[in-house]
Amino acid sequence: MTGFKVVCWPADYLHLNPVNVAIGIYDFVLHNLVVSNGEDIEIKIESMVFQLFYEGRVVQTYLYSEKELEKRSRLSHLKINEMQSLESLFHLKKLLGKEPLSESLLMKPHTGIHLGKFYISSPFQPEKLKIDITGKTASQKTVNSIVEVEIRSHYSKNQYHFPLKDIWHVDASADLFCHHRWWVNTQFAYDFVKKNAQGKTFKGNGHRLTQNYSFGKEVRASLKGRVVKIENTIPESKNILIDDFESVALFIEKIKKSQTEILKKYGDEGPYGNYVLIQHDNEEYSFYAHLKQGSILVKVGDTVDTQQKIAAVGNSGNSTEPHLHFHVVDSPSFFTQKSIPFSFVDITPGFFDTLHYGEYLSSNRMT
Ligand SMILES: [Zn+2]
Repeated sequence: MTGFKVVCWPADYLHLNPVNVAIGIYDFVLHNLVVSNGEDIEIKIESMVFQLFYEGRVVQTYLYSEKELEKRSRLSHLKINEMQSLESLFHLKKLLGKEPLSESLLMKPHTGIHLGKFYISSPFQPEKLKIDITGKTASQKTVNSIVEVEIRSHYSKNQYHFPLKDIWHVDASADLFCHHRWWVNTQFAYDFVKKNAQGKTFKGNGHRLTQNYSFGKEVRASLKGRVVKIENTIPESKNILIDDFESVALFIEKIKKSQTEILKKYGDEGPYGNYVLIQHDNEEYSFYAHLKQGSILVKVGDTVDTQQKIAAVGNSGNSTEPHLHFHVVDSPSFFTQKSIPFSFVDITPGFFDTLHYGEYLSSNRMT
C-alpha cells in the first residue's frame, strides 16, 4: 500500500436494512473501516467525518473525535486478536495486505488501523456514505483521505420458504443486540430454536443433546437449487451446552475457550460446524449451519427441490444449544460473501417488515 488511505469492506456497497418502511426506519452497518499509512513517515490520525447522502444532498453528518477514534482502535485491536484476525470476519489481508495493525492513532510507517464497526440509523433511504479522515505528520503537515461507498436497498429477489416444520422461535436475527448483525456474511441471518409451552428449549436438565427439542429435527431446502458446498463431519459441540446452574461468567469463559479451539482446528469455516450451501437464481445462496454430524442427505452437485429434506438440526461449530442458523448470501466464498436481507414467502411478518428476535414462527405449510 502507498499513501495515506481510508478503505472499507465491503468496498462496493453496503446493505440498507428496511426496519420499517411505512414509518421510515432504515439502518446499516459499516463492518470494517481501516486506515492505512503507506508513507515512510509517522502519521497521527486526528478526526473523521461521515456524511450521509439522500437525493444528492447531505442529510446526516457525524464527527468522530480523536478520543473516540482512539477508543475504537484499541477495542477493535483487542477483538481482532481475540478472534485470531479471521480473514472472513475482518478482511485485513484485502484491506491492508501485509501491513501490521497499529493499536494507537500515532501510526508508524506502513501500518494500518482498524476503527471497528459503525451503526447508522436513518429516517431516509440513504444512497451514499462519504468517509473523510484527517491526520497530521510529525512536521505538522495535514494529510487527508476520502472514500465513498454506495448504500443499496438490495433485497433478495427469490421466494424462500421456511426451512423447518411446525412452530419455531427466532433466537437471533438482524436485531442490534444479536451477534449476527455485526459480521458482513451473517448480518441478516436467523437462528431458530424449538421451545415448549414454558419457553424452555429442553426437557430434564438439558445436559444431553437428545433432551433438546430442536436436536435432530428435519431441515428442508428453502428453495430449489444446486448444492455447491457441504460439511458433514464435525462432531457436535457438547461441552458448551447451557447449564442452568453455572454463572454467566463461567458460561462465557467456556464459550470463548470452545470457540478458540474450533477456530484452531477447523479455521474460518469452523464456527458454522456442519453446513449445506445451495445456489439459487439471481446469484443468491441459502445457507444452513450447525447441522447434526452425518445427517446431510445431499452431496455437492445435487439439485434439490423446494422443501426437500436435506439434513437434521444439530449443535456443531459455535453453537451453545442445538439450533438452525439460516441465511442468504451473494457468493459461495466465505471470504467475500455478503448477507442479503430476505423474507420467507410462507411467513407473514408482524409489525415490522423483517422478522425479529422473540417471534414465534410457523410456516403456512405444516406438512
Ligand atoms: Zn447463527
